[in-house]
Amino acid sequence: MAMDERALRFKVFDYLRARSVEEGGIFDGRELNAGITIDDRRLTLKGQNGIWYPAGFSLPISITTVANGPYRLDDMGDGILTYAYRGQDPEHRDNRGLREAMRTRTPLIYFKEVHRYRYQAIWPLIIIDDDPSALCVRACVDPAYENLQPSTNPLDIPLSPIDLRRYAWAQTRQRLHQEAFRDIVVTAYDQRCAVCRLRHPELLDAAHIVPDSDDRGTPIVQNGLSLCKIHHAAYDHDILGVSPDFEVKIRSDILKERDGPMLLHGLQELDGTKIALPARASDRPARERLEFRYRSFLGAS
Ligand SMILES: [Zn+2]
Repeated sequence: MAMDERALRFKVFDYLRARSVEEGGIFDGRELNAGITIDDRRLTLKGQNGIWYPAGFSLPISITTVANGPYRLDDMGDGILTYAYRGQDPEHRDNRGLREAMRTRTPLIYFKEVHRYRYQAIWPLIIIDDDPSALCVRACVDPAYENLQPSTNPLDIPLSPIDLRRYAWAQTRQRLHQEAFRDIVVTAYDQRCAVCRLRHPELLDAAHIVPDSDDRGTPIVQNGLSLCKIHHAAYDHDILGVSPDFEVKIRSDILKERDGPMLLHGLQELDGTKIALPARASDRPARERLEFRYRSFLGAS
């Protein structure tokens, strides 16, 4: 692999890292297809095909799975991604590229569609096994490669022991689930707080309706509310409740307090208003979940 290709690859990782911090780790598919500019070069990060080479690259930069698509063979639950070849021919250029990435231990990006054209970026993905008879490769995220430098030959770094890889993946997986849940919920509410309509993504969270400490507190959109930081904390502390009819309720003792504008406009005046709902009916909060949570709010009142 040419040195400039290797350097560009690491600059792409830097770009993803910076953007993940700013935007919660989930990327718009159109932006990835349109590409980014690095050192005056336009680099597309993924394409229509599952295995993607930016123009001029000798090795793939990414592999992609779409929700319900053909490539993903399992959910990476144990930290191993089984990824299907393109087509049936092990010698297809895309499949050879995966094999060459394995041989040189070149890190790739795994773009996983979490919902409607929103992709989670997972890297550095290392291909550890090639299985032509099953028409697939196997890959993992290895912590030993997290801080790989462009000047280091990846073959000089041994793969981590499997126990360490599993442990690191369990941590990563939890963060990925949280990021995906936040993105699904905040996107469903059109990037605003359901209670006060604030539109600053960096101030928005996905609140669980049934708490995640409860078995039924699953991270699905129907168990989420897009709330700003203040309203999320108020909801979690039963200062603010949402009735099964989508009505905002402020706890009675809070209504009697006298304080500054934040209490007045940010809480008291919202009592009796309706929350904003997702445009898609299927994304709306489940009534029985709201009811379950509302009972705990009434108990606190
Ligand atoms: Zn709010």
